[in-house]
Amino acid sequence: MHESHPSRRAVITAAIAAAASAAAPATSAAAGQYLPPGRTLNPWLAGTMGGEGGRAAIPLTAQVFLLALLSEGVRIREHDGWRTHNRNHQGPWGPVDGVMLHHTAGTNSLRVCRTGLPNLHGPLCIGLIAKDGRVHLIGYGRTNHAGSGSAALLDALRRNAPIPVRTGRDTVDGNARFYGFEIENLGDGHDPYPAAQLDAVERVCAAISRAHGWSSGRVVAHKEWTRRKADPSFSMAEMRAQVAARLAGR
Ligand SMILES: [Zn+2]
Repeated sequence: MHESHPSRRAVITAAIAAAASAAAPATSAAAGQYLPPGRTLNPWLAGTMGGEGGRAAIPLTAQVFLLALLSEGVRIREHDGWRTHNRNHQGPWGPVDGVMLHHTAGTNSLRVCRTGLPNLHGPLCIGLIAKDGRVHLIGYGRTNHAGSGSAALLDALRRNAPIPVRTGRDTVDGNARFYGFEIENLGDGHDPYPAAQLDAVERVCAAISRAHGWSSGRVVAHKEWTRRKADPSFSMAEMRAQVAARLAGR
């Protein structure tokens, strides 16, 4: 899709900076828990937020996250209470290390993503990416999407190294470490991912990566996080290449 609205993008970029500036004092205080004693940073400087080189990556505020998506041209539907619907009371969210993608293995998954399953409390993700490319924001923060996974993968992300082909044992709490997104698809290898949907996935991943100063290598699959899972069912190498091209193209 053409980048046909540079003025709109400029307006939104300025809004991100304004929101970030306004939120800085509270967020800087919150950031302290992730930093070694005596170390300070301004989390709103691009790159500093990224965690490259082992630095702490503070989660974006809901407002900055929303503006980042809009800036990337993501079509959004905001559902009631999404900014505060999370599992943060059950465990940490952050420092964050990447974006994790899933497929729903079902249809009409909005309600279950919001409220969860009998044995798994919702929200199950931050956003559900529908077949039409609409991104439904249903939560923000820690969500029940990743479960435990590979310390080796996490280490690779932080070193900007290639994703390990074989993941290690499941020892790390992924719900604390990743922005989780569900992609509506049966995951049977036959159900197609429409172009609009893949475009939305690419934009969501690019938006978060750009805001954090991350490379496309921070975009991972649930199937790469743990051997227990096989989602999403598309090629992550291709998706990361798409995200990389988008990040380089602006
Ligand atoms: Zn999954």
